[in-house]
Amino acid sequence: MGTIAFIGLGNMGGGMAINLAKAGHDVHAFDLSQEAVNNAVGAGCFAAGSTLEALQGAEVVVTMLPAGQHVRSVYLGPDGIVENAKDGALLIDSSTIDIESARAVVEAAEAKGLAMVDAPVSGGVAAAAAGTLTFMVGGTKFAFDKAEPYLAQMGKNIFHAGDAGNGQVAKVCNNMLLGISMIGTCEAFSLAEKLGLDAQTFFDISSTASGQNWSMTSYCPAPGPVPTSPANHDYAAGFTAAMMLKDMRLAQQAAGAAKAATPLGAQAEALYALMEASGKDNLDFSGIMKLINGTL
Ligand code: NAD
Repeated sequence: MGTIAFIGLGNMGGGMAINLAKAGHDVHAFDLSQEAVNNAVGAGCFAAGSTLEALQGAEVVVTMLPAGQHVRSVYLGPDGIVENAKDGALLIDSSTIDIESARAVVEAAEAKGLAMVDAPVSGGVAAAAAGTLTFMVGGTKFAFDKAEPYLAQMGKNIFHAGDAGNGQVAKVCNNMLLGISMIGTCEAFSLAEKLGLDAQTFFDISSTASGQNWSMTSYCPAPGPVPTSPANHDYAAGFTAAMMLKDMRLAQQAAGAAKAATPLGAQAEALYALMEASGKDNLDFSGIMKLINGTL
């Protein structure tokens, strides 16, 4: 087993780093938060005092950071990963970031002869801890083949989506669709109720009819029909409305750059921004039901 540098030990990265340690790697873990480092060390990782220190001897570098600006700052520049990683090291960025930053960082890595993939994830904190994430991977076939065994130790579904940045493309397009379908599902359940049709009866019909979709059948935003859904727990997250808004903004940024028409994506972004403006974006993203039915 090898030596891995892991940078960014937050809600997601913490569990991922621990799974790599459990798989037998020496994981040198760094985060700006000492508490996050301590948690990882308590579960089998080694503490690093900086990114540079974590990189010493690492054959693989994994990052799990909040946004594009953090990824650029950790990878680029004289103290960055690209300049200081060992020859032949493999770089994996699993953060959800804008496509432009993802492609810029991979390009810089390749210019130094380093293989790199963007590998954002689907699945939340529980999936990160359980090692059951889905990875959407962009990069060359060579880089993907090198990354796959490590990703398999942190997840269960691993897709090669194409060239650098395509992992992020898959992620933002999927989440834009999820955000839109959730709002549509809320509208349908809210209207049904106002017209005298209860949630369970509407669910029984629509989940076997053409309105059926994941937001309804696995994550129903109306309390009742799906016992595990956040709607039954006052919309405790789950996947917060704030995180959904982040992804919706990334989708709109990408749509603008590509001159793609995404009118429903734009509308969905605006509605999640209202959750933010109301100070309720810490609710699960299905809590947008409260905005739709007037109970926010
Ligand atoms: P988080 O804020 O909990 O963790 C990010 C960590 O990065 C923090 O601990 C922070 O201290 C650290 N960090 C920031 N800058 C750093 C730097 N320069 N050096 C070292 N550490 C640094 O976020 P998270 O929930 O773990 O999410 C990470 C990424 O995964 C985000 O891009 C997010 O969009 C994506 N994601 C999250 C979820 C989820 O359910 N939480 C699901 C899918 C994808």
